[in-house]
Amino acid sequence: MPFNCHGLGCTSTGLINAHFMPQAFPRRIQKRSRVQNTTVSELRFTQRIPHGLFDSEILCDACDQFLGREYDKPAFELINALSAMEFARPKFEIANVNCDLLSAFILAVLWRCSISKMFDVSNINLLGYTNSARMVLWHAMPLSDLRAYRVLCQRYYPHSGIDEFYSLPIAATFELEDAQWHGYVVPLVGFRFMVIIDPRPLPSEYEPYILNGSTVLRGSFVDFPNTYEADQARSVLAFHDKGS
Ligand SMILES: [Zn+2]
Repeated sequence: MPFNCHGLGCTSTGLINAHFMPQAFPRRIQKRSRVQNTTVSELRFTQRIPHGLFDSEILCDACDQFLGREYDKPAFELINALSAMEFARPKFEIANVNCDLLSAFILAVLWRCSISKMFDVSNINLLGYTNSARMVLWHAMPLSDLRAYRVLCQRYYPHSGIDEFYSLPIAATFELEDAQWHGYVVPLVGFRFMVIIDPRPLPSEYEPYILNGSTVLRGSFVDFPNTYEADQARSVLAFHDKGS
């Protein structure tokens, strides 16, 4: 049975290989480090998919290109431009940044994972927000109406290989002011996006750091070895070590 494209209002069954994370990021990594990008997940530890994981059952060419044009490409360019700038440490504040673009781009990555049935991304989902996320991505609803979805941005202190590394969203629980918040961490070429999916308003001290609706990129530096994702990476690597 052919699969239908998940794009808003699209009935196409001619589906293509849609990458969860735009291929431009693994390409950039390959160009800069001259080593093949390694795809790591619970299932895979391989250099045989150098441009990252993709699903051939979620999107048609036109819808994949639409997301590429609206979010993936401009966000890649913005992140490249930000990478070239000096950031104040340990806290940074950069004016005139299209933070909505970063937030919507991360939403596009999460949404592609969310609609996929692949095991590798089975723990990534937007729960009850999958359909409204699609409406936001296709401009049928403003991002500001997706109130449960918020993105914050941090940077990693310089660390060997940290700028040549990315991961698909990692499910995480954040402790903010004695409360727990469900969401994801997305490490991406030296940046760390924290996604919160929860209808409660964040404690007020975090509000200036929310990217949605902002034109000022505010955030702080973190040390990769002390992060949640470093722990996760260590356990995945240990698992693959045992298997080989
Ligand atoms: Zn389509």
